[in-house]
Amino acid sequence: MKERLDDLIALQNVEIEIFKAEEGLRELPKEIEEIDSIIQARKTSLNAVDEEIAALEEKKTPLESELKENQTILDAADARIKKIKTNKEYLALQREIDLAKKRKADIEEQLLTIMDRVEKKGTEKERIQKSFDADRVILDEKKEGLLAQIRELESVVAEYKGKDQKLRKSVDPSLLSKYDRIRQSKKGIAVVECADGVCKGCHMHIPPQLYNELVRGDKMINCPACQRILYISAKPENAEE
Ligand SMILES: [Zn+2]
Repeated sequence: MKERLDDLIALQNVEIEIFKAEEGLRELPKEIEEIDSIIQARKTSLNAVDEEIAALEEKKTPLESELKENQTILDAADARIKKIKTNKEYLALQREIDLAKKRKADIEEQLLTIMDRVEKKGTEKERIQKSFDADRVILDEKKEGLLAQIRELESVVAEYKGKDQKLRKSVDPSLLSKYDRIRQSKKGIAVVECADGVCKGCHMHIPPQLYNELVRGDKMINCPACQRILYISAKPENAEE
């Protein structure tokens, strides 16, 4: 019985490693996703500032062309004023010039306001970009580390799955099917040590009679409380832990 259980314990150890590695392979990609979403959020906020700057620049275009038209009007008026003959014509043209000048000042004021806002947005963008660049180094390193861990776990799984297949072939089929049945209901742990008459799976005392049978080691003993397959460690109990 002892040798048969040794194979089973070895199998269980391998399967626990596979389980742990697979758990890591489920969890680590979530951490990578988190990092990616942080990076994405930063990119989105940078894009938003870019869009605000572009919208402001767009507002400048019609104002700039109006300013040009206005200048044409002023230049034309300047040329005309020298040829004017009557006072009435002069006053009318002067009013036209005054209006154009007022409009020019108004447009220039608006352009200055826009340029001021563009500058402020530019400073804001620089600030976001700087902190993003600094964080990016850390985030990229963290992601690289997680990817390395994933590769490592993948190779662990591949290696242990190979071991698992071999071990499964070496275990007695009826024992293996009992092991699988218990394992499914007991979160992967089907074989547990019994130390000082206590099942290490459920921490219950097993009856002395059963414990004696276990010590004799001529048949398979299940814990009456949790049904797990029990074994006694080969080492003296007080030397462990
Ligand atoms: Zn138990």
